[in-house]
Amino acid sequence: MNSNIANPAQAQGENRLDPGQLAEKILAGHRITESEALGILATPDSATMPLICAAGILRRQHFGNTVKVNYLVNLKSGLCPEDCTYCSQRLGSTAEILKYTWLKPDEAVAQAGFGIAGGASRVCMVASGKGPTDRDVDRVATMVEQLKDEHPQVEVCACLGILKDGQAARLKDAGADAYNHNLNTSESLYPEICTSHSYQDRVKTVEQAQSAGLSSCSGLIVGLGETPEQLVEAIFALRDLGSESIPVNFLMPFDGTPMQGTWLLTPMACLRILALVRMACPDKELRIAGGREMHLRSLQSTALEAANSIFLGDYLTSEGQGAAKDLQMIADAGFVVLGQESSSPSEVARRLQDAAHAAPPAPAEEERAGGCGSGCGTGCAPAQSGAAGCGAAAGREPVLRRRGAGTMEGPNA
Ligand code: SF4
Repeated sequence: MNSNIANPAQAQGENRLDPGQLAEKILAGHRITESEALGILATPDSATMPLICAAGILRRQHFGNTVKVNYLVNLKSGLCPEDCTYCSQRLGSTAEILKYTWLKPDEAVAQAGFGIAGGASRVCMVASGKGPTDRDVDRVATMVEQLKDEHPQVEVCACLGILKDGQAARLKDAGADAYNHNLNTSESLYPEICTSHSYQDRVKTVEQAQSAGLSSCSGLIVGLGETPEQLVEAIFALRDLGSESIPVNFLMPFDGTPMQGTWLLTPMACLRILALVRMACPDKELRIAGGREMHLRSLQSTALEAANSIFLGDYLTSEGQGAAKDLQMIADAGFVVLGQESSSPSEVARRLQDAAHAAPPAPAEEERAGGCGSGCGTGCAPAQSGAAGCGAAAGREPVLRRRGAGTMEGPNA
């Protein structure tokens, strides 16, 4: 087996996988083997569309034509003492991301409201750092309670890093539904992407969340240099861990991090990876996460045939596709937003934009970003203006987020 994710050794003749037959076997209860998983990754580009169609059989069996929309609120950005090589918030990163300390509860809940107006049925409250103090957990618990009071129908997922004893239970008591902590990659590759904590630390946190009754959300970053075997190892670890929700991030190689300039994926390779996760974990939420715009490019909507979940709008430190465009993409591909089945995604997009235009600017402290310092070279326009500038997020390089949480600009809505 060739070790390149984007150009794997291709199975020939009788050894070539029949994806439709494999999907039928999985529907009947088969768990895919390592050899089948490697065969999926070895599918040539010319046979990748039939593979995605086969993954779609499983997706539609378990999730119909719904797309779950999730919304990120970055509660605390940058200033992390950990050394994860892929992360723009890591120790020593010179990426010019927004850096700010904890949002106030009112601000966090107001930011969440934008995503909820756009059809988000889950809000992900994220903070940088190795893990929270008990005081941090109390602070986030207050936010969760306030968010649940105002939007009881919305699921809340916390993502605060490595947990200590009792912290998952505190979040659960406050009303949190889920906890996110990604395994990110295989155990065998982990020491190469992070030295300040271990793979086992990550597994333990997922297990602590599960033990406290929180739904586990744990997924991947692909394109880190993993071999096909390591990718299969990581996906099977998530399967064994029982992750209920699996975000798949495609590496965004931020300038100023050790992964700067690392481009190892193609749109077709991304589709094969999503098809593999679907076939390995057929009934789990599969979320296309960060980097989808730059790596899937024109195949973003095709990827929804395997995945049933996306993040709306921006990511933690970088811009995503415009939220209204996300919703239009869902509609164009014949899907509906989960929980909004009676509204067309275009109507949901209109509501989202109305909410953004009606909102007062978020309170911001002096040290938070006031205006654009991104140096993106196109000139900055407020997100609502529709003008070209930082809002495009259509190019190859990550565009740093300069709006939404921690800024005086409206969010990507
Ligand atoms: S991934 Fe999390 S723990 Fe690692 S550097 Fe980034 S913010 Fe810190």
